Amino acid sequence: MTDIDQEWGAATLGIRAGWQSGSEGEHTCPIYATSSFVFKSAAEAAARFSGEQPGNIYSRFTNPTVQAFEARLAALEGGEACVATASGMAAILSTCMALLKSGDHIVASRTLFGSTISLFENYMKPFGVEVSYVNPTDVDEWRKARQENTRMFFLETPSNPLTEIADIAELASLARENDVLFVVDNCFLTPALQKPLALGADIVIHSATKYLDGQGRCIGGAVVGDAERVGEKVFGFIRTAGPCMSPFNAWVLLKALETLELRMHAHCRSAQTFAEWLHGQPGIGRVYYPGLSDHPQHALASAQQKGFGGIVAFEVEGGREAAWKVVDATRMVSITANLGDARTTVTHPATTTHGRISAEARQRAGIGEGLLRVSVGLENVEDIIADFSRGLGQ
Ligand SMILES: *Cc1c(COP(=O)(O)O)cnc(C)c1O
Repeated sequence: MTDIDQEWGAATLGIRAGWQSGSEGEHTCPIYATSSFVFKSAAEAAARFSGEQPGNIYSRFTNPTVQAFEARLAALEGGEACVATASGMAAILSTCMALLKSGDHIVASRTLFGSTISLFENYMKPFGVEVSYVNPTDVDEWRKARQENTRMFFLETPSNPLTEIADIAELASLARENDVLFVVDNCFLTPALQKPLALGADIVIHSATKYLDGQGRCIGGAVVGDAERVGEKVFGFIRTAGPCMSPFNAWVLLKALETLELRMHAHCRSAQTFAEWLHGQPGIGRVYYPGLSDHPQHALASAQQKGFGGIVAFEVEGGREAAWKVVDATRMVSITANLGDARTTVTHPATTTHGRISAEARQRAGIGEGLLRVSVGLENVEDIIADFSRGLGQ
């Protein structure tokens, strides 16, 4: 079903890769809503089960709609293999379960997504996997944190919510020198804006729930990388343990990839306009957006990324009260911790996503009481700006 032309550009891959037309001449990939597949004979069943003959057996293993999504995302990320998962967290769990063992050590950026930290702390540690956390932007910290038993570097860049940018190529060479697997969670930028595999990473993780869908409709995830580690080992774990993607969600996400390139560049344009507007407003302290020339890693972001992304964070002067006032004065934007949606969302990290960590840890992470995080959506940017200006200054 796949006939990928390697010369195709990213927009074309998002629309054409992974699936052409089927046996009925249908122009859109069907949802193969079936749990199992039938065989022509006992001999064919035996050949499928033994692996002698390729083909579908059971939808926990493979499903054509899910495979179309996997092939399209693999083409976009430039990976040999992709396996889709039930959620972004299932993608991270499956990668760890398939590629680590008791006694191994992970070095991870300390600004990780909250559930990723919970997964490491509450579920990986009891199975004997150690984890150290480092400042993502300081390569020396990664070097010093590495131990004899370090098997994985785990990075999110840009970080959430302060949009710190880590140097993927530099961390990739450190990982390679030490025979460490380098995993990058590419949820914030997607392959439309950043391709970690091309920069030397081994594995890319996605929460498809965010920008890959981009319309807040379903939960999904994916692991992308080489044929052996992802195509066999991670796939083998998912096939056995079962955190697979449903055909319906795969269909939603397959269609979503058709507009990924367009959407991501539109998110970037509006986020840039919004960040520049915030920058000049009275009552606003620091604005965190890699597209601003005063961002500490602006040069690195310009070189490493094809765009600066849709996430903007900023400090409202006057702490929690003033920040909440801005949130509560909005009439259009959605107050929710989700991100990567066509609809603009706003959250107060100190009392939501980062509410359960100690005040001291929050301060160390740079999450102040006046900080707001906005996922800039695809509404007219003038309307987004008007909505945020309501609670400012008066
Ligand atoms: C949301 C998110 C995840 C987890 O994805 P789910 O689909 O919610 O399981 C992982 N990493 C990052 C950076 C995220 O934003």
